[in-house]
Amino acid sequence: MTPMLQADRVCKNYGALQVLRGVSLEVERGQVLCLVGPSGSGKSTFLRCINHLERFNAGRLYVDGKLVGYAEHSGKLHELTSRAAARQRREIGMVFQHFNLFPHRTALENIIEAPILVKKVPRAKAVDRARELLRRVGLVDKADAYPAQLSGGQQQRVAIARALAMDPKLMLFDEPTSALDPELVGEVLGVMKQLAQEGMTMVVVTHEIGFAREVADQLVFMDAGVVVESGEPRELLANPQQDRTKAFLSTLL
Ligand code: ADP
Ligand code: MG
Repeated sequence: MTPMLQADRVCKNYGALQVLRGVSLEVERGQVLCLVGPSGSGKSTFLRCINHLERFNAGRLYVDGKLVGYAEHSGKLHELTSRAAARQRREIGMVFQHFNLFPHRTALENIIEAPILVKKVPRAKAVDRARELLRRVGLVDKADAYPAQLSGGQQQRVAIARALAMDPKLMLFDEPTSALDPELVGEVLGVMKQLAQEGMTMVVVTHEIGFAREVADQLVFMDAGVVVESGEPRELLANPQQDRTKAFLSTLL
């Protein structure tokens, strides 16, 4: 089976700034990879490359065996057509630090928007599915609430439901709990853990080491645009080999 995600020496610069300097990793189907590293190490940029929000300069990136656009391929720049890129992007769900819900739409309306507009799902069907997803994230009674009427944890759970409504094969989370008050972190991690147990393939940028230890199949430590070290989470946390990893992990304790 081809991995769900395969990055092979992905490089990205902003002008003279080399943000990704050859990132290679793989995520098997149904597995969870947690990506940790200091601020500015390129974690968000890497997720954005996977999701077509950013072009990269060199290397190759495959999602479900399919080449993601803008990779250097056979010595020349290979670009997907925007239509092909859009098709790929639809299959990838992304959850951001700042939930990014539409403020003037209810929780339910936020969830049904993309299935109706992008996938042409009939409204009644999209509504049924949205209610089922709200139930899954524990918010069935908040269908008609506007984002401002929800706590940060509830908004983030709506954002997860919204991403799931497109039936993604891969979910990307970029510090999904970093903007939350501490008492709200657990409810979001709980939903993510449940999703992992249901077999979703996930890449999670997080500083929640407890979550990584408990839920991830693979923990990757990135610094200055490279993967410094990776491995089975318990093993890596108990026994980091690289000084940079040790130094970083000690800042989280
Ligand atoms: P992380 O998510 O690990 O904190 P980022 O991927 O956000 O790191 O950023 C990596 C580096 O790239 C940082 O130095 C950041 O300032 C820089 N960077 C990110 N986005 C841009 C951009 N659009 N233009 C220029 N530099 C950027
Ligand atoms: Mg970031």
